[in-house]
Amino acid sequence: MSRTGKQYLSAVDDGREVFINGECITRHSQHPAFRGAVESVAQLYDYQASNPQEMTFETDQGLQISKAWELPERAEQLVGRAHASLAWARQSMGWLGRSPDHVSAALAGMMTHLEVFEAYSPDRAAALKAYFEYARDRDLYLTYTIVNPQGDRSRSPGEHERNLYHTLGVVKETDAGIIVKGAKMLGTAAVLADELLVGVQNPLKAGVDDRYALSFAMPLNAPGIRILSRNSYAEGKNSFDHPLSSRFDENDALIYFDDVLVPWERVFVYRDTAMCRRQFHGTAAEVLMDTQSLARLTAKLHFLTGLAQRMTEITGVSDFPAVREILGELACNTLMIEGLFKALVHCPVQHGKYQVPDKKHLYMCQAVAQTVYPKFIEAIRKLAGGGVIMLPSSIHDLSHPQARELIEQTQYSSIATPLERVQLMKLAWDAIGSEFGSRHLQYEMFYSGPHFVALSRVHSEYDWEAAKELAVSALADASTYQ
Ligand SMILES: Cc1cc2nc3c(=O)[nH]c(=O)nc-3n(C[C@H](O)[C@H](O)[C@H](O)COP(=O)(O)OP(=O)(O)OC[C@H]3O[C@@H](n4cnc5c(N)ncnc54)[C@H](O)[C@@H]3O)c2cc1C
Repeated sequence: MSRTGKQYLSAVDDGREVFINGECITRHSQHPAFRGAVESVAQLYDYQASNPQEMTFETDQGLQISKAWELPERAEQLVGRAHASLAWARQSMGWLGRSPDHVSAALAGMMTHLEVFEAYSPDRAAALKAYFEYARDRDLYLTYTIVNPQGDRSRSPGEHERNLYHTLGVVKETDAGIIVKGAKMLGTAAVLADELLVGVQNPLKAGVDDRYALSFAMPLNAPGIRILSRNSYAEGKNSFDHPLSSRFDENDALIYFDDVLVPWERVFVYRDTAMCRRQFHGTAAEVLMDTQSLARLTAKLHFLTGLAQRMTEITGVSDFPAVREILGELACNTLMIEGLFKALVHCPVQHGKYQVPDKKHLYMCQAVAQTVYPKFIEAIRKLAGGGVIMLPSSIHDLSHPQARELIEQTQYSSIATPLERVQLMKLAWDAIGSEFGSRHLQYEMFYSGPHFVALSRVHSEYDWEAAKELAVSALADASTYQ
């Protein structure tokens, strides 16, 4: 039997320290800022438990675990895990970015390339392997913080001599493990997950930044871990006025480590700047985790396309040629992302005994997705006009007889009731314009790193020689003219 929502709910209130609105709370799952998202995650686990064939695989020990933990040896296993991610993404219509299948996929991708860790350090490789099995066998929900806090990006963390522990770094080494101190930029879903994987995606300078070149995993209730939540988009929101914010605000938080002891058996990279990069880019970590992201984006774009179509039907413009063109463009971009997702999964490369998506294709998908989403949102805003603003202030207006009568007179559509129109327009605004919707725009633009970094990865992986050879082959007969 795989993990259920009930089991997840009883584990998540583990005494972690969450700071929000001037308070430090320790039982957060019932807090209005987090309750809706916690419940949505519990529903994912219930969906998984009810659909074991689609969502889980059986380990050698006979445990029924999410397919995200499976190391894909056969092409069908890669396809199966992708379908499971898509099925989960459809449960939240793509609005939960860091669902439990994201970071587990990253760890699976490190395991398919365990030799990279073994070549670096047999001890750290053994720690990673043991942790992977520990987390897999419990089907733990992990999130990660792999980016250093912004601070002053003109210098690397070790060059800020007067503030050495602004960025998370090692303070000292003991027989039991390492003591770490400082911040990591953002942990999406740090209030939802069981444990946190720490790593570094930012460039670090060998010799200068060694103390920051770390990767490890810790439970989110470990002594000294402080979770500083951003403002909540769910608190005080109801499902009529904010149908998405109220259920899917997965939260983002700055994570501060206040002299946290990390046992050696949880340390995967220690004082090695090059290995920090190899951890994600020399293994299949990035490709497997962001294949999950593409599944999620596919679900989200189908949702937004359907929303745009329904919105234009309600406002009576859906058959105008100019509107059909914009809708066609939305459908086209949705199918393009779906096609990229399918290509990642169906055109894998072999690594040892494993089948994993092609790295250069994955980097291209990241770069394309970052630019598609903002255009998508802008197109839906064009279609929406002021209809997403011309709305009653809140559900409470419906219980005021005079206000309700006015709403029913003014929220006119020839194909929907006034209430249906209001609900659909509120859904649209929550998706494209609310604080929640704006955060999603920022998320899609940045979760896989800034755009210039995505493009530079494509640049590094692209086969320029083959392309140049093809180009100059057109000049094969040029010698005739010399
Ligand atoms: C909603 C959201 C959720 C997130 N969740 C997570 C999470 O769960 N875990 C996690 O680890 N991270 C998370 N992140 C962080 C994310 O990974 C970073 O935002 C991303 O890597 C970009 O880093 P940055 O924000 O520090 O931007 P910066 O690196 O500071 O870049 C910002 C901009 O500055 C310019 N710039 C910076 N450096 C250069 C340069 N060298 N050359 C040219 N231009 C430059 C570019 O215009 C760039 O777009 C999240 C971010 C967002 C927005």
